[in-house]
Parts: sequence; C-alpha cells; structure tokens
Amino acid sequence: MFDNLNNEANRCLLCKRARCVQKCPIDTPIPEIIKLIREDRLQEAGEIMFDNNPLSALCAVVCPHENQCKGNCIKGIKGEPIDFYKMEEIISNEYLNNLEFEPIEQNKDRIAIVGSGPAGMAIAVILARRGYKVTMFEANEKIGGVLRYGIPEFRLPKDILDKFHDLLINLGVKIRPNTLIGPVITIDKLFDDGYKAIFIGTGVWNPKTLNIKGESLGNAHYAIDYLKSPSVYSLGEKVVVIGAGNTAMDSARTAKRNGAKDVSIIYRRDFDSMTATKHEIEEAKDEGVNFELFKTPVEIVDEGLIYKETKIIIDDQGNERLIELENTEGLFKCDSVIIAISQTPKNNITVNNKGFKTIGAGLLAVGETGETSRNGVFASGDVVTGAKTVVEAVAHAKEVAESIDQYCSENK
Ligand SMILES: Cc1cc2nc3c(=O)[nH]c(=O)nc-3n(C[C@H](O)[C@H](O)[C@H](O)COP(=O)(O)OP(=O)(O)OC[C@H]3O[C@@H](n4cnc5c(N)ncnc54)[C@H](O)[C@@H]3O)c2cc1C
Repeated sequence: MFDNLNNEANRCLLCKRARCVQKCPIDTPIPEIIKLIREDRLQEAGEIMFDNNPLSALCAVVCPHENQCKGNCIKGIKGEPIDFYKMEEIISNEYLNNLEFEPIEQNKDRIAIVGSGPAGMAIAVILARRGYKVTMFEANEKIGGVLRYGIPEFRLPKDILDKFHDLLINLGVKIRPNTLIGPVITIDKLFDDGYKAIFIGTGVWNPKTLNIKGESLGNAHYAIDYLKSPSVYSLGEKVVVIGAGNTAMDSARTAKRNGAKDVSIIYRRDFDSMTATKHEIEEAKDEGVNFELFKTPVEIVDEGLIYKETKIIIDDQGNERLIELENTEGLFKCDSVIIAISQTPKNNITVNNKGFKTIGAGLLAVGETGETSRNGVFASGDVVTGAKTVVEAVAHAKEVAESIDQYCSENK
C-alpha cells in the first residue's frame, strides 16, 4: 500500500478519454475523483463514489482490477499503473464510517427485495434513499450473499458487511434473515401483503456437477457449500480442488488455512485458460498450492481422484480442441475432493410460483429493464447473468432500481 494518497493521485495523468473509466463496469469517474483527492476534498470524493456505486468500499477490495482500472491504466504500459482501487478503498471506508443519513420520509410504495447479495444491497440503498418502504428477505442468517458466504475472510474482512447491515437499518430497510422466499412466503403472498414491486437477486447457489461417478461419496464436496463454513469440514491432509476460477482458488487457499498440508488444483487446460485472475493464481502459488494441469477428472473413489491426461490440438479447421488421451488414466491419491466448476440458480422461486420464464440452467429471463415474465417482479445479478462479478451485479442493479422506480410511479 502506498503511504500517501496525494503522491499516488499526483502520478495520474488525468486522461481525457480515460481507459480506466472505459473498462470500469460501473463507470466510476476516476479522473474527477483523483482531482478531488489532489485538492484534499476527500469527503466529496467519497460521496461521488458512494452515489455512483453504493458498494464502492467492497468493489475496491474484490474487483478484478487487473482487467479493469489497474490493468488498463496508460501508465502501466511503460511503468507502474495507478493504484486507484487502493485510494477508493481508503476513501470509501472513511466515507462509510462517517455516513449518516438525514431521516427519510418513507412515503412511497412497499418493495420486497429477495436476496441480500450485492444486487439486493445496491437496490435496497437506492430505493430506500428515494423514500420507498423496503423489506429485504435473506435465506441466510446474515446479509451479503457471496461476499459473506463465499469470498473468504482473508480476502474480504466481513466487518464491512456488518457496516452495511447498520447502514441499511439506518435507512429504514427492514431485514428478515433466515427467510427463504418461494415455498412458504410466495410471490403472490408478497403482492397480497401490499408489496408493489418485488426484486429478485437470489444469485447462483446450486453447484454445477462434473457428471462423473463418485460425486456423492463422503470425500467429495462442492466448493460453494464448503466455502460457506469451511471449519465444519474434516478434509484430511491431502486435498484436490477441481476447477480454475476464483472459487477454486478460494477453496484451495481456504483448505490450506484450515489445516490441509497438501492442496492441489487439477485443471484440464493451461494457466492462460484459467478464469481466475492472475493475482489470485499467484497468491495461491505463493501459499504453496500445487497445480496439476492437463488432467481431467474421470471418477471420484475412496482413495482419491481418477483422472485422464488431456492435450490441446489444432483440428482440420484450424480450431483449438481439447482431447482426452487414451490409456493415460491414473489415480491422484487424496483424502478429499472439492468440486469448483461454477454454479447455477436454485429453483425455490420458479418451481413454487407460476409464470416465471427461465433460460439455460434456470437463469431468470428478463427484459431490457430487468422485468421478469411476471408483472411487477424484477431481477438482476447472477440469477439473471449467471456467475459474474460483484461490480457487474451492482451496475445492473442500479439500472433495475430505475425501472422499479418508474414502474411504481406509472402504476399508482
Ligand atoms: C467463491 C466465490 C468468489 C468470488 N470472488 C469474486 C471476486 O473476488 N470478485 C468479484 O467481483 N466477484 C467474485 N465472485 C462473484 C460475485 O460474488 C457474484 O457475482 C455476486 O455476489 C453476485 O451478486 P448477487 O447479488 O447476484 O448474488 P449473491 O451474492 O449470490 O446473493 C444472493 C443472495 O440471495 C439469497 N437467496 C437466494 N435464494 C433466496 C430465496 N429464495 N429467498 C431469500 N434469499 C435468497 C442468498 O442466500 C444470497 O444471500 C465470487 C463468487 C464466488 C462463488
């Protein structure tokens, strides 16, 4: 971390057509903020960031900066890029610590928010600030979604989510924890009780399966379940993680921290094909996670994982293709296998409530402004897009907040 905000701000070229802004999914006005930092107007800088992205303090920590602001900074071509996200983290945290809202008259419609992940939190803040009576329903004990129950503490300290909880309460948002919407409290029930519009931001919490034999054995676990409460698992000393996204890196690094001595990531391609950020891969390597590339799982057995070797070939049409090599089966001995190959939505809402159109593996189908196939019900975040990023969930949620606002004013 740099030692002086101004020194870092002074290095910025304040580009007119800033590439960092162009690559920011939520269009953070970076040069404008850096100018304010140079003038020591940090409160204003914090306000601009919060108004543009109520979750800026969280995005500063978890965004894949190497593909966004940092990775596209012009200064990075020949030297050190500007660490804008570190400035964002300091200023946004300070802003949140001192944030107090004037009492807001809640004289607008009643809105239900289902799911308290980044999408739900962002919409709740925006609509509550506009005077809507917001109730947030969360199946888990605490708010935050993946931020709370997926991304490990060593990457994102959870006390910031507690601050968000207090902020929402401060804004007049009613929170109902441990409340699963769908089977008992249905969508119809919410409308009957006077909610004018309903927002669904329920994310993707069903693990994708490998479709191989042995996935139900006692030594196999899904990453999305494991990361929820790693300390309750007894994984043993030698652990294999299958996958190559951030969920796989998080699982491997968490397993190490929870006592596994030998953790390997098994992946069927090379490092360049991994969806995890380079930063996360490097961190995993530094912490001693092994990488076994060009291996694909065939079966999970009591003794470990049976795999086959793979190879990338160029086919007759000149396209790259991954093939499994015959007679290369081997046993990778281990105590536990963690499967981390992405997630799909759970169907508590769509199975128990009529009228929802879905696509693919159960993603909610929405129109351009986030409206689902049921009147008055809107959706965004991972349950619409599939597994993406926090900042994208917030960026879409902002747009959907506008359409809920418009829907309510047009349907008096
Ligand atoms: C392990 C892991 C690491 C990740 N790391 C990063 C990262 O470093 N950076 C990044 O930008 N993105 C990361 N992501 C992706 C990012 O977290 C998601 O894109 C983002 O959280 C999606 O937000 P969301 O609000 O749509 O859903 P979620 O965060 O999934 O929140 C949905 C909430 O809805 C609740 N819910 C579900 N069904 C119901 C129901 N029927 N009734 C009531 N509540 C319900 C859930 O309990 C959950 O709290 C990661 C994802 C995972 C799994």
